[in-house]
Amino acid sequence: MVTIAERLNSAYQRLQDAAEKSSYPHPVRLLAVSKTKPIESIQAAYDYGQRCFGESYVQEAIEKVQYFANTPDMEWHFIGPIQSNKSRPIAEHFHWVQSVDREKIAKRLDEQRPLGMPALQVLIQVNISSDPAKSGCMPDEIASLAKFIASAEKLTLRGLMTITELTDDKNKQLNYFQQMRQCFDTLRVQYPEVDTLSMGMSGDLEQAVQAGSTMVRIGTDIFGQRQ
Ligand SMILES: *Cc1c(COP(=O)(O)O)cnc(C)c1O
Repeated sequence: MVTIAERLNSAYQRLQDAAEKSSYPHPVRLLAVSKTKPIESIQAAYDYGQRCFGESYVQEAIEKVQYFANTPDMEWHFIGPIQSNKSRPIAEHFHWVQSVDREKIAKRLDEQRPLGMPALQVLIQVNISSDPAKSGCMPDEIASLAKFIASAEKLTLRGLMTITELTDDKNKQLNYFQQMRQCFDTLRVQYPEVDTLSMGMSGDLEQAVQAGSTMVRIGTDIFGQRQ
């Protein structure tokens, strides 16, 4: 049987190969997406050196964050759709939220972030392929949402995130990712501190890194298929 450590090692290798081929110089971070996977799998990835983890379902996510509460160097990213009545536990438990796509949610996260905690690190989710099945704002909505987040006291604007429509067409994927990189570069003109473009998953990592991703979110390749 292939262990999580071996799978993680292959994922780092795959990412490094992609990054070396890309003309973008920066290192690319790997977020291990552990949704639906047990604590033991997360522990195995942690023991191998992985520190940042992504979760999509609030209830499950909170249980995991609480289980690892005494492991202070873990970094938890919420990457799932956010219903407004579920924003509070997200604001109270996560380091990052990658799936903010409207002002109402940003406002609630800012209000609900406990005062003693560091600012919540926020990415704006963009629906670059206009896929009706995906969350995310439209590219022309980024500027006003960014303005709101950047001025919110308990939020820090870090950049953009996208999930593109499911397609095997690599050129189409690359094209979407290049459009995202343009949105990212435009955003950085006004907010030079913005440093994160989260795109690329197990199926499209190479295209995303080629287009200038700074963080890929990998689930299946590390933890195996989900039910
Ligand atoms: C599940 C998920 C991933 C990981 O997808 P894999 O194809 O399993 O690598 C990445 N990003 C988001 C937002 C997800 O929900």
